[in-house]
Amino acid sequence: MPETLVSSNHVAPDATYLPYGRHCVDEDDIAAVSAVLRSGWLTTGPAVESFENAFASFVNAKHAVAVNSGTAALHAAMHVAGVGVGDEVVVPSMTFAATAGAVVYSGATPVFVDINGADLLIDPKHIDRAITEKTRAIVSVDYAGQPCDYDALRAIASRHGLTLIADACHSLGAKENGRLVGSLADLNCFSFHPVKQMTTGEGGMITTDDPAMAEKMRRFRNHGISADHHQRTDSASWFYEITDLGYNYRLTDIQCALGLSQLKKIPKWLARRRSIAELYASELVALPGVSPLSVRPDVDHAYHLYVVELDLDRLSVGRREVFEAMRKAGIGVNVHYIPVHLHPLYRERFSTVPGDLPVTQRSYERILSLPMFPTMCDADVQRVVDALRKACKT
Ligand SMILES: *Cc1c(COP(=O)(O)O)cnc(C)c1O
Repeated sequence: MPETLVSSNHVAPDATYLPYGRHCVDEDDIAAVSAVLRSGWLTTGPAVESFENAFASFVNAKHAVAVNSGTAALHAAMHVAGVGVGDEVVVPSMTFAATAGAVVYSGATPVFVDINGADLLIDPKHIDRAITEKTRAIVSVDYAGQPCDYDALRAIASRHGLTLIADACHSLGAKENGRLVGSLADLNCFSFHPVKQMTTGEGGMITTDDPAMAEKMRRFRNHGISADHHQRTDSASWFYEITDLGYNYRLTDIQCALGLSQLKKIPKWLARRRSIAELYASELVALPGVSPLSVRPDVDHAYHLYVVELDLDRLSVGRREVFEAMRKAGIGVNVHYIPVHLHPLYRERFSTVPGDLPVTQRSYERILSLPMFPTMCDADVQRVVDALRKACKT
């Protein structure tokens, strides 16, 4: 049976509306989940370990720890990096709330640094200046699915003795110099929210080559309890110890079965995302005032998002008008992101102000995310570009 027959992309509320992202669930995914539901073991069972092992080997990391969101993955990473009250963590502001939120959960202060205007990735040349004796970690965000400059980031982190945490929630399957995201930083955090590369409904993963950190994160996701279910059943013992404060961040077997099934399709989906990006790029050449973000050399982009920048000096319309015209045409454009440091929580608690990060601010005013998901067809891309041409009428 062709797998698209029952794909959930056929059950959109309005069949002509093109969202900016859309998940894909096929019959084999449903069968994998049903098998777990019939198995009698719904959580913290064999599917968790199978998914972790498959994921670690897919991204070429030694260990993978499954948790129940990308946000929990970031929180667990902060925990094992030793981030605590009074510490500082360097983060970009051009990111989703969770990147900075995880720093705040840990009682630490996010120190926002500016990005490179061409690709919206953290700019290594601003990091040194942001580091103080309180800094514990650097978080890089592989914005839109493009890996950051990890050679530069690793060099800075090791020079200052800091942990490098990759927020890789956009970049599953991406590579830098032939090396897979998931093996580029000390700790690499992924999300399986439906809008990401693959889904478990909600879910997340951290990969690392450090066995002690992996073990510590397994405790963190389970209330800080030291024995896992194997040890408990093997020794038939009631004994366990709470060693650190942990949380319930466990991912269910139901979700891990879906994750295992989805993971197999990543190569196929990535190839499609890349061909959609190529088609966009070739079409946008003829659209003055609209340019895709640049892609660094030696990078294999994962295209979680397809982001364009509007040249406001060249267009006779503003970003808001373009956004509204696109939405009216049934195209779910979006803006990723309102910079975190501009939100009231951060302004009030950390005294950030709009002038802090000029490149982030300038980019924020010009970006627009166009629809990008593997089940889009070439005609959908054409429809987006045609609508954009009309919306940008100069
Ligand atoms: C999605 C996302 C997260 C959070 O993931 P959840 O699974 O939704 O908790 C964190 N950082 C970035 C950059 C994301 O896009």
